[in-house]
Amino acid sequence: MKALLLTGPSGSGKTTLAHTLLQRYPELTFSISATTRPPRPGETHGKDYYFLAEAEFDRFLAQNAFLEWERLFSGHRYGTLRQELERIRDLNQVPLFVKDVKGTLALKNLLGPGAITVFLLPPSLETLRERLIQRGENAPADIEERLLGAKEEIRRIAEFDFVLYNDELPKAAARIERIIQRYLL
Ligand code: ADP
Ligand code: 5GP
Repeated sequence: MKALLLTGPSGSGKTTLAHTLLQRYPELTFSISATTRPPRPGETHGKDYYFLAEAEFDRFLAQNAFLEWERLFSGHRYGTLRQELERIRDLNQVPLFVKDVKGTLALKNLLGPGAITVFLLPPSLETLRERLIQRGENAPADIEERLLGAKEEIRRIAEFDFVLYNDELPKAAARIERIIQRYLL
């Protein structure tokens, strides 16, 4: 199945780039993840995430409703609901997934070779730290956890179809648009 899977460390620019792509390509539909983390200011349930209580997440787990899920930062869980993929498939749209490295590889495995994986690489860990601080959404300890995670994730870049260097946003956007036009439209 055709799909675009964006991955990379937290703060690498996945959400920012995803917003740009969703505006430019009406064929793409964002796959909304379920999470137990609380919403950030400006985030909406059913748009940015399905924000679930721990018990609701447990209930979906018991129903085997997740295609994949992970426990990530500050102990919060994140997962892809099977019904979300079905919703996008029924719309005849190409799903855009924004996931961590493990979730992305699990989904690629499920979706097959039509699914294109793109790893967003920040210019340096120091730049990544600055972007996370500047985003202003995470406590210092949470940022350190995300940076440790980044080192682990960057080790695995060889497992993705494309590595996209995110130095300047317009350049990164142009690079990913070439990938979309060649492989997904
Ligand atoms: P992710 O979704 O991967 O966690 P975000 O899209 O939230 O990352 O980006 C993290 C922060 O870095 C945001 O404040 C965003 O505006 C900023 N950012 C993303 N890409 C760039 C870039 N190329 N240059 C400068 N700032 C960027
Ligand atoms: P944030 O808390 O910054 O929104 O997201 C933290 C991390 O969770 C990001 O790297 C994001 O890509 C990842 N993530 C979001 N949804 C999912 C999901 O459904 N599954 C997995 N495995 N990771 C996810």
